[in-house]
Formats: sequence, structure tokens, C-alpha cells
Amino acid sequence: MMAQYLGLKADFPDTLLLYRMGDFYEVFYDDARKAHALLDITITTRGQSAGQPVVMAGVPVHALESYLAKLIKLGEAVAIAEQVGEVGAGKGPVERKVVRVVTPGTITDTELLADKQDAVLLSVSVQGKRHGLAWLSLTQGEIGLAECNEAELPSWLARLMPAEILVNREQQPAAVMRARFPVTNRPAWQFDATLGQRKLCEQLGVANLQGFNAQELVLAHAAGSALLAFAEHTQGRALAHVRTLRVQRASDLLDLPPATQRNLELTQTLRGETSPTLFSLLDSCKTGMGSRMLRHWLLHPKRDRAEAVSRHDAIGALQAEGFERLREALKSVSDVERIAARIALRQVRPRELTGLRATLQALPALRDATPAALRDAALNPPDDILELLSRAIAAEPGLLPRDGGVIADGFDAELDELRGIQQNCDGFLLDLETRERARTGIANLRVQFNRVHGFYIEVTQGQVDKVPMDYQRRQTLKNAERYITPELKAFEDKALSAQERALAREKLLYEQIVDALITRLDPLTALGRTLAGLDALAALAERAATLNWCRPEFVPHPCLEIEAGRHPVVQARLAETGGAEFMPNDCKLDARTRMLVITGPNMGGKSTFMRQVALIALLAAIGSYVPATACRLGPMDAIHTRIGAADDLANAQSTFMLEMTEGAAILHSATEQSLVLMDEIGRGTSTFDGLALASAIASHLHDKTRAFTLFATHYFELTEFPAKHSMAQNWHVSAVESGEDIVFLHELQPGPASRSYGVQVAKLAGMPASLVRQARATLEALEARSNAADDQFDLFAAPPAPPPLPEPSELLQALDKVDPDALSPREALEALYKLKALA
Ligand code: ADP
Repeated sequence: MMAQYLGLKADFPDTLLLYRMGDFYEVFYDDARKAHALLDITITTRGQSAGQPVVMAGVPVHALESYLAKLIKLGEAVAIAEQVGEVGAGKGPVERKVVRVVTPGTITDTELLADKQDAVLLSVSVQGKRHGLAWLSLTQGEIGLAECNEAELPSWLARLMPAEILVNREQQPAAVMRARFPVTNRPAWQFDATLGQRKLCEQLGVANLQGFNAQELVLAHAAGSALLAFAEHTQGRALAHVRTLRVQRASDLLDLPPATQRNLELTQTLRGETSPTLFSLLDSCKTGMGSRMLRHWLLHPKRDRAEAVSRHDAIGALQAEGFERLREALKSVSDVERIAARIALRQVRPRELTGLRATLQALPALRDATPAALRDAALNPPDDILELLSRAIAAEPGLLPRDGGVIADGFDAELDELRGIQQNCDGFLLDLETRERARTGIANLRVQFNRVHGFYIEVTQGQVDKVPMDYQRRQTLKNAERYITPELKAFEDKALSAQERALAREKLLYEQIVDALITRLDPLTALGRTLAGLDALAALAERAATLNWCRPEFVPHPCLEIEAGRHPVVQARLAETGGAEFMPNDCKLDARTRMLVITGPNMGGKSTFMRQVALIALLAAIGSYVPATACRLGPMDAIHTRIGAADDLANAQSTFMLEMTEGAAILHSATEQSLVLMDEIGRGTSTFDGLALASAIASHLHDKTRAFTLFATHYFELTEFPAKHSMAQNWHVSAVESGEDIVFLHELQPGPASRSYGVQVAKLAGMPASLVRQARATLEALEARSNAADDQFDLFAAPPAPPPLPEPSELLQALDKVDPDALSPREALEALYKLKALA
């Protein structure tokens, strides 16, 4: 058996191999140690193999799914070897085969997948600094291809959020990949561009990739080759449902670098939670596939606005015609997208098919509730799908085809007949019991069945002498004997074989139903996509109506104009906690005003304002309405943010280093069409350093980059910036003092803040009163001193010319002439005296 195990293991060196032995899956040797560490299961040694004790650990069969879920979460891949041969047939151990490989990026089991997120498998091939990317979500059926350079890679990873990355075993993957994602090594030969192109063509059923605009993406083809090979390897079959390809170019997308995704808390809070975030606020979808679609929209905003405009139109139509009925109808919709994928992979469960059936039954009402403009042809799938499911699948089927009870009565005559035999069983047994009691005169004689011994007639010991000749003893118990008769034996054979045959028949029929459904994959996949899209749009329409959002307008010239904008997540939080009303604020940037320098007290609302501007621009770009009363937007290519977040401990960079690294990345990549948020840049170092850097960065953004910039700063000196930079304006968040206290109004007003209110904020925060008094006194003293100094330092003056180099002194000239190697000791002493005299 160990020889068989090691043979299987050789094919899966990097994968935990679960080896079925009766009621357990066993793991051996290093796998056992790993499983012990990861799952906390007991490790034992048993017997010997090749002179060494066998180290092993096991998990019970019924608990497999929960252990799998844990391993996948930890980023492990698992291969499952089942017993496929007959037990006891032939010599040696039962034949076993790896029937399934589960890896984080290739899971398709409903139980293991998050409802609202796809598991994306990404393959990366590298040549110098160029990277080819190919990705796939097995439950979706679309391959993505892209190429990027090294600097763009983090953005791609943040956007795709792969569950697993495939890399060439012989190449060192970039650190960003290793640090954050499970990486799986694959053989180098699988990353082959020619092979990849051929595999992609075969998969999509096309002669070349021209039609997808993917012909020239050679590196991506190489990645695609490894991607498809791995996906097929883990599923043990071709991927019938993967039929489309999409080439994604970074230049088509509004760039959202990882820092932006983090700082704007799009799908995760800064603490790493999933709520409250922009996505958790937006996602009122009724189906998992709707939520996944919406998340995709959020993380893949397009620069081209045609799609966004058509979504705005759709939201308008849904609001005009009412979206509640549609959302009601969507409640009876199952995850058609995943069900279609699982049909293709032949993994679909009976209950998923009843879910699909219920969805198809709900379609007429759903079509009726959908505005005419959004009624897609895909909402009319061929009738034969529903017809088949209604006829074939029981109203409430069992969990697994192999346990029976899945196929509806009346679908198959043979199955009905076999089931008839089983059902007549009870009647027959009762009848037999009555007859035998009468024949033998044993009043308490019973006819029964158990799994081990089959059918029998039980007679208590006291009555045994009345038993007729044709009773054969089957089993002796303490106070009863069990018998079988020829008649009962004949019945048993018929009943047991009927049950077995019925189960086999059900399995076969189920396979045939899945075969028939596979021929309908295209309409099912299209239906899934359309329903997901409708769900996402209806959610956006509902949000817009509930939260009172408006339709943004796109214009072709530089413009970012927001009237009465709100930060949707902060506003929702305030509403929930019953706190103060959210104060709406305007924002106006255009070709002539490209930068707002924002000052004001801490806690005054600067960060909130800047983020809300970015969120509104992003919402508009994904095709959502926005939290404002009016909004006009010019073209936009990226949203960059530099906001003082917590130290990036994982990367062991100091706050200041991180601040500068992120700042540098922004200055390198931002363009005139970018939106840049700079919050408190320069805070991580000493005051003068920080101020000097902050002003240099502001100048660079203003003069060279010319990006739309919101620049919040606690350096009051920077309020002088706009006076010398025509495209910048001073704004401040307002606060009023009442006595020694401060009340934040959170209202953005033109002009610089009058003072920084640090002391009042400290008081609000509960610093001891004596400390606050001392700080106030020190502040007054400092202010008095700085007012007295009349020579104001000009931060933005051109840097002074370097002073001319001074003439070298006589002493230096003399020293220069001395050549120590050429001097005798005596000359050296003389030289020293001479130099001393010159000093
Ligand atoms: P700053 O960046 O100026 O230190 P924040 O933007 O972090 O200030 O805002 C501090 C708090 O003030 C927020 O957590 C929020 O509760 C509240 N706040 C900010 N802006 C507004 C607003 N426009 N209306 C109401 N409350 C606001």
C-alpha cells in the first residue's frame, strides 16, 4: 500500500495528498507533519515502511469539507485520492486515484467559495521587466489577458485579488506576489507562448486570437498556457464553459493603485474588515452573482465613459419605472452563473438544479418587472431547459445523486418500476407476517430487515419448537432465533437488487440530464450574466433612491465640479449613530483651478472631504449615481492618494520612508487627468524637513504634473502657496470657538484657516486641564515672538544660487604642494614648521 501511496504522491510533490482508507483520509510523512501543524490533528506512527516507522495523521471522511475549507483559507493545495477499485477484487490494495485537486484558485464547491467574491486563478510569466498575465475564475467562464511592466504589477494584483498565483518554477517571482498571495510553482515548459496561443484558440474554438485583439500579447499567451494546463489538471477535465476572452489594458482603466484602494476603503476598511466600506454600502444586491458583478465594476472603472453612461441611463429607467418589483423577483433567483459553471464541470448538485428551475420559473415575472430598455434576449432561455428540469428532477431532491431520491417519478419507466418494487415491500412484508403467524400459530412472530443480515423472520426462544421445516436458521440471539424461508429469500433478492439498480439508474439518468444541460451552457451563462447585471443595476438604483443621490454628468474638458457632495460611508455612519447631520460641501476644479490647499483644525473634516471627492469621481466612473446634488466630471485617468495610514508593518518600512515612496510613485505616474489626494504630506519627519518637502511636492504637482490636487496640510505656512501659484486656491474647514472650546462645522470655506486650534482639540480629547493651560500659555508666547519677527521667510522663493567657491588659503596651497612620500624625516620636520608658521 505504501508503494501505491508513494506512486500517487510522486505526481503531487507540492500538494497535500489525502489518501482514502475506509472511513478516513490519511496523510503520511511530511504531509502528516504539515497537516498536524495546520489543522492541529493528532499525528501517530504505525508499522514500518522501508525500515522506517510510518508517520501519519487522518481526518474522518464526513469532516472532509470543513478541513478542506481550512486548508484552502491557509493557501494550501489538496489532492484527494479515492478508492476507485472494488474492495477485495484482485490482489494487493484497492485501486486508488486522485479524483480531485482543490487549490485556493480553482475551488468550485459552493461550500468553499465566498458568496460575494470570485476565486481568481492568476498565472504570471515574466520576461525582463515585462509581465504577462492570464486569469480565470472557474465559476465564471471568462479568461482575462493583460501585459504590464513591473511598476504596474501591484495595481493589477490589487485589482484582481487572485486567490492563487501560478509562476514559473525556474523564475523568482516578484516580492509583491510572494508577500501577499499563495504562489504555486509550475514547470517552466508550461509557460510557453506558442503552446499558449494554441491552447487558447482551442479553448475558445477559434482559428486565431485576432478577434479578441489578443494576437500580439505573447507573454500573456505564455501565462495562459500554464493557466489552462493547471485549471484542467485540477478539475481532471476540459473546461467546457470557458468560452470568452477579454484583453484588459491598463490604459483602458481608471487606475486605482493599491494605496488608493486601501485609503478610500473601497472593499476593506483600514483595519481589514469588510464593512463599513464603499462596497458594503453599495451592495444591496439580492444574489451573490449580482454582488460579484458590482464588486468587479467598482474595482475596474473604465476611462471611457460610454458604459458608465449606459448604466446611468439604466438607473434612470429603473427609478422611473420602479425597481422594487424587479428586486422582489430577483429574490427567487439562484446563482445561475456558478450553477452553469458547475454543470460544465459536471459537479452540479441536485439542489442547485432545483434552484435553477425556480429561477427559470421566476423569469416571466422578472421580465415583466424589468424596464423595456433593459430586457435582454438572454432573459428568454430555450424552454426545453425548464421543461427538462421540471420533468426530471424531484420537487425536493436528495443531496447527492448517489443517495437516490433525485429523479422525479414518471420521468423514467424503468426507474419507476424499480421504485415500485421497493414501495411494495412494506405491503408484502406485512402480508407475509400475517400469513406466517396463521401457518405456524406463533402469535408474536415478526418479519424484519436489517442492513447486515437482510430480511428474516424472528421467533422467540419459547416458540422455537413450532417452527416449520422450511425455516432455515440465519442467526441465534439470546432470546430469539432468526430464520429465512425460500419465499422471503426470493423476495430479498428482488428487493435488494431493485434498490441497487434504482440507485444506479438514478445516477445514469442524472448524468444524462447534466449532458443535456451542457448543450445549453451558452444560454445559461448568458442568463447568469444578464441577471447579475440587472441585480447590480437594481441595487445601484435602490441605493441612489434611498440615499438621495444624483446622476453625474460627463464633460469633455477638465472639470471636477460637485455641489453639496457627501462622504457616503461617513454620512451613513452618522445617520446610524444618530449623531450630527453630515455637512455637504462643494468642490470646484477646472483648467484654471487645479489645486486646493486645505487647512483647518484636526478633526475639522479635511480627510473626509478629500475622500468624498475621490469616491464621488469613482462612483460616477463605475456608472453609479453619486452622493451630491449635482456633479460634472471631465476625463480622468487615475485616482492617487497619499494619506497617512498606519505604518506598513508587514513591509517594515518607516512611516516616513513609506510616505516618501508613495509620494514619489504619485509624482511619477500622475498626469493632467489624474486626481491626487495629498493628506498631511511631510508629517513623518521634523517640522522644517517636512515643510520643505511638502512645499516642493506642492510646487511639482502644480507646475509640472498639473493634476487635479487636493492638498490638505497642517503646515500653516503653505497657505502662502496660492499667492504665488495661479492654479491653486486656499480653502479651509471651518470651526468656531466658543470661549476656550471649539465647535467643528465641517464646512469648507474659501481662504486659509485662521489658526490651527490644536490646543482646543487637545482639550476636547480630554488632556488634563493644567496641561492645556500650560500649552495655551506657551502658544501665546510663541505667537508673540513670531509676530515680532518681521523678516518673513519665503518658502516659495526660487532656491538661492550656490555661493562662489572661496580662493584656497595660502596654508592650503602650501599643504597641497607637500608630497609626504618624497620627504626624508628631516625635510618632513621642516615642512611641518613651515606650515605651522603659515597658520
Ligand atoms: P481631519 O482630516 O480634518 O482631521 P476628518 O476628515 O478625519 O478630519 O474628520 C473628523 C470627523 O469629523 C469625522 O470622523 C467625521 O465624524 C466628522 N466629519 C467630517 N466631515 C464631516 C462633515 N462634512 N459633516 C459632518 N461630520 C463630519
